[in-house]
Amino acid sequence: MPGKNLSREEAQQRAAILSVDTYRVHLDVTSAVDPSAATFRSTSTIAFRCSEPGAASFADLLAPAVRAVTLNGTALDPSEVFDGTRVRLEGLAAENLLVVEADCAYSRTGEGLHRFVDPVDGETYLYTHYEPADARRVFANFEQPDLKAPFTFTVTAPAAWDVYANAVHTEVTEEGAARTWRFAPTQPISTYLTAVVAGPYHVERAHYSRESKDGSTLEIPLAATCRKSLAKYFDADEIFTVTKQGLDFFHTEFDYPYPFGKYDQCFVPEYNIGAMENPGCVTFREEFVFRSKVTEAAYEGRANVILHEMAHMWFGDLVTMKWWDDLWLKESFADFMGSYGLIGAGTKYTAAWITFANRRKAWAYRQDQFPTTHPITADIRDLEDAKLNFDGITYAKGASVLKQLVAYVGAEAFFEGARQYFKRHAFGNTVLDDLLVALEETSGRDLRSWAAAWLQTSGVNVLTPQLTVDAEGRITELAVLQDGEPARPHRIAVGLYERDTDGALVRTERVELDVTGARTVVDGLVGKPRPALVLLNDDDLTYCKVRFDDRSLATLREGLGEIDQPLSRALAWSAVWNLTRDGLMPARDYLDLVDRFAGTESDIGVLQSLHQQSRTALDLYAAPEHRGEGERLLAACALRELRAAEPGSDHQLAWARFLALTADGTEHLQLVEGLLAGSARIDGLTVDQELRWSLWLALASAGRATAEELNGELELDNTASGRQHLTHCLAALPTPGAKATAWAAVVDSDELPNALVEAQIAGFAQAGQRELTAGYAAPYFEVIEEIWAQRSIEIAMRIVSGFFPHYQTDEATLAATDAWLAGHPEAAPALRRLVLECRDDLARALRAQAADRG
Ligand SMILES: [Zn+2]
Repeated sequence: MPGKNLSREEAQQRAAILSVDTYRVHLDVTSAVDPSAATFRSTSTIAFRCSEPGAASFADLLAPAVRAVTLNGTALDPSEVFDGTRVRLEGLAAENLLVVEADCAYSRTGEGLHRFVDPVDGETYLYTHYEPADARRVFANFEQPDLKAPFTFTVTAPAAWDVYANAVHTEVTEEGAARTWRFAPTQPISTYLTAVVAGPYHVERAHYSRESKDGSTLEIPLAATCRKSLAKYFDADEIFTVTKQGLDFFHTEFDYPYPFGKYDQCFVPEYNIGAMENPGCVTFREEFVFRSKVTEAAYEGRANVILHEMAHMWFGDLVTMKWWDDLWLKESFADFMGSYGLIGAGTKYTAAWITFANRRKAWAYRQDQFPTTHPITADIRDLEDAKLNFDGITYAKGASVLKQLVAYVGAEAFFEGARQYFKRHAFGNTVLDDLLVALEETSGRDLRSWAAAWLQTSGVNVLTPQLTVDAEGRITELAVLQDGEPARPHRIAVGLYERDTDGALVRTERVELDVTGARTVVDGLVGKPRPALVLLNDDDLTYCKVRFDDRSLATLREGLGEIDQPLSRALAWSAVWNLTRDGLMPARDYLDLVDRFAGTESDIGVLQSLHQQSRTALDLYAAPEHRGEGERLLAACALRELRAAEPGSDHQLAWARFLALTADGTEHLQLVEGLLAGSARIDGLTVDQELRWSLWLALASAGRATAEELNGELELDNTASGRQHLTHCLAALPTPGAKATAWAAVVDSDELPNALVEAQIAGFAQAGQRELTAGYAAPYFEVIEEIWAQRSIEIAMRIVSGFFPHYQTDEATLAATDAWLAGHPEAAPALRRLVLECRDDLARALRAQAADRG
């Protein structure tokens, strides 16, 4: 299918001659409730202009069949003009009307119009997800962000259903077993932002109103939906609270009224990503409807996503990037606003910047050290490139750099620049320069060199303190060394820490300065006593890796957990994690720090990331001869801290989950069995359904659960989520048969929906089962090219990344990976990128293991 992967050049050529007046789209999804029906009827009517009459162009459509194509009243033969991916349009007039009637396919991969049947009650649910280019799986269109137009949707659906789209519905008519919903025209928006959600969804409603400056009142009806079987868990009040706080905050900061009328937030099943900012109809993964107890970090995470998507209503939806090169224009901004808004809007999630420093930045640092890293403003040749760039650079590094920009120009200039940008480009498309122009006007600073250093280069700088002291132990000089190309201007704070009388490490000095070039001297510290700890980038203003001088590192080894400020402590944890990943701190030293200090970590989000990172350190970075010792250490740590945690606390739940993640010895596994059977209790710990599945997974991967027992658990939880957990557990059983079944279910068949593909892969790959899965490395390299060609990109990405032999950390696997790369120079660049990143992870693991061996 040559036309499936639209190139930037093609998009530019099309936008040069076409402009779209209106879309009218009619979808008939009454067939959805019939499991044997694979398709639905789609009619797309596009009124558009062509500045070069007589020219040829094309519309995009991925559909199994086209029934009719009419251009300017002339019927065209679908078999001649439609090739499976595009509708060829020739002899265009100045003003054109195109009508395409197609049979489009229901999706099971989360791309296009996804269909899901709830095992609890048999109800069918539909929703769309398009970014970057899957609206063409649902209706014929010009699939590129800069051909905006108003859309008018009409949806015919089973009579018992509700239907949501970007605009309010204006009329619902009933005919037999079907109802037809007519929606108001939208504002001009891009194709990837259109949305339809249909099914017997449970809905909760609320209302937001606000006085405008001109005395009028802005009214925004709010809705939140989820599947009926999740309604009993749906805390819509909490969702509406954050929503209203966000609407207040963004109206104040952006000074541009919310432009899309109503605001629906739909929580949908088997969703591939966190959420999507469809104007007026945001879709979220339904795992944000919490079925069991979760920690405050999960609520904070959800609130962050709510604000992220809301920020997109302005940055992304009102003003949209011209092409995917400037994806960061919306994602970096929204990612930044997710954290900034949690604080600024006055939500109860006051740890937002700690989470950002510790968790979000870890994603950016990892991505930015791959050989495939790229500048924040990327070179996106085509849609496959675009799909892979929803990554740690575009989101987390971009947001980190905007945080640095706010430190550089000040919040007021930054937001005034944003306000100008919205007004100037409302309903239009932009490139980097448009934002810079606005920010330069409001800040009075030249941002070209700043942008060149931060946005148009890749890689992370390393900042190291260089401290000299005199014979009395007083500072004679503190300099900041900068490594990594290019050197960048960094606005940073430097913190000096000393022990107080209680033994806590407290900040005694804070100096803010601009670091430029390879070496910058910090003023104002000469004569001060040498501190116990020097923390560069204190308060997390810039984006960099930080190192320590010898004494500071010794202080951290003795007392990392005794730093009194949670943000500073989170930065110290982040820094020692980077040292471990870089092979500069042996993995066993990192595990030792976790063992000694995780138990006193107050921030629940940081604690949960320590749990994940220590598991990674053990599985990938520990030398094989130290693994057994490390496993025993972490399991004992989990048990000790679980027993010590405050009954009923988030920390207790986090430690219980960590016990499930680390249990290996008989004693731990017996406790896991006891918790499941109810014969063992931990005071205050509720063993609810999600925790039960975590415990079952521990038993399954240790070979202490049978398929029969696992199927028995499904009887208690025969839900979509239960089925995913069961699949995960069955694939984790330590038998050749379990591995073969999981592999075949994903590789040899494309029957499974996205959520079960994910569960199979997660279960298949167990660090403790290296020998059992070693034989799959060779078949992996044999099948990935075919998988890439045949599967949807979403599924192909999961298979290529998920089945890579991550746990075969040996030279032979590295050599096999290199052999594949050398032998496949012509493979799709996006496929090569994924394999290169897996290879880099593997090489890093080998370096870290060598460091741990010594
Ligand atoms: Zn986003």
